[in-house]
Amino acid sequence: MLENKNQERTSLEKLGEFGLIEQLTKNTPIHQESTEKGIGDDAAVLHFSNEKTLVSTDLLIEGVHFDLSYVPLKHLGYKAVMVNLSDIYAMNATATQITVSIAVSNRFPLEAIEELYAGIALACKKHKVDLVGGDTTSSTTGLLISITAIGKAIETDIAYRSGAQPNDLLVVTGDIGGAYMGLQVLEREKEVFKVNPNNQPDLEPYSYIVERQLKPEARKDIASLLKVLGVQPTAMIDISDGLSSEILHLCKQSNVGCNLFEDKIPLDPTVISACEEFKLDSTMVALSGGEDYELLFTVAQKDFEKIKGNPNLSIIGHMTEANEGSHLITRGNTKIPLTAQGWNSFQED
Ligand code: ADP
Ligand code: MG
Repeated sequence: MLENKNQERTSLEKLGEFGLIEQLTKNTPIHQESTEKGIGDDAAVLHFSNEKTLVSTDLLIEGVHFDLSYVPLKHLGYKAVMVNLSDIYAMNATATQITVSIAVSNRFPLEAIEELYAGIALACKKHKVDLVGGDTTSSTTGLLISITAIGKAIETDIAYRSGAQPNDLLVVTGDIGGAYMGLQVLEREKEVFKVNPNNQPDLEPYSYIVERQLKPEARKDIASLLKVLGVQPTAMIDISDGLSSEILHLCKQSNVGCNLFEDKIPLDPTVISACEEFKLDSTMVALSGGEDYELLFTVAQKDFEKIKGNPNLSIIGHMTEANEGSHLITRGNTKIPLTAQGWNSFQED
């Protein structure tokens, strides 16, 4: 994808670090009142009046977190921002600014890095987040991207991982497992391409799950939805690693247990059909897949009527006393201990 012969290739060596920064940051709009000074000085200046400030960072490394043989750079930029915004949204907060630091090797032309920044800019525009700074340096090997997201929330709105109580309802947004199945499709096409580079893959039947993998959308809408519904989540986390491991994080940090009901896990029909094709168990995919960037949260029982039937929200279980442990209740009504990898089939009780 980088080797498109029709495109111009401006070498980074010729451009230099300052030339590159100038090219990448020349049109950076500001949406937030709290941004007093963005790019262009030694530091950005932000101003939050009555709210708390939230900060979260992620580091993405080529070959570890992404594979440029099937991830277009524009998508990578978009996703890198979404992954960070998701962490701010997972505190029931609003994202306001990001900084972006990159290390690039000379194998990338300016045009490739501009693609990456086009994705970053699109994500910022969609979520009304300001790009207020960063750092640019060279790398001897691949591409490295570090993003810091900044957000705000009033103190009483912030949802920590530690606030869940026994009997609270466990709720997930959207549907899960799609990003993992999208990755399976892309990995398969990569192998096909290695054997026959002229083969044009037909990804159309998989467009939903491929998009879930390449262009995830962080749930900016949920904090405001919960506000409108009058619901304060007792605990919250985003789904980056898979439902099972995120549930266990909530349980551990809140010192509670959980019963998760297999038949309540929201799956898109295309995820189910892809699982059949790849001979994978769809529950296992939902529990262990990851990268869906949906939100997982708990609410008090009294809020049941407020969230019931909402198309964005699925009630998938409830919290218990810690000594009851964390379990998946299967369709066949078997109780299986949850593990970070999904479930432990050797420990049925
Ligand atoms: P310094 O020498 O103080 O680190 P730089 O010359 O690296 O300053 O950066 C100049 C300005 O450009 C600063 O506002 C910085 O935050 C911003 N900047 C540098 N690299 C990036 C980048 N990759 N993305 C966004 N902003 C950047
Ligand atoms: Mg710098």
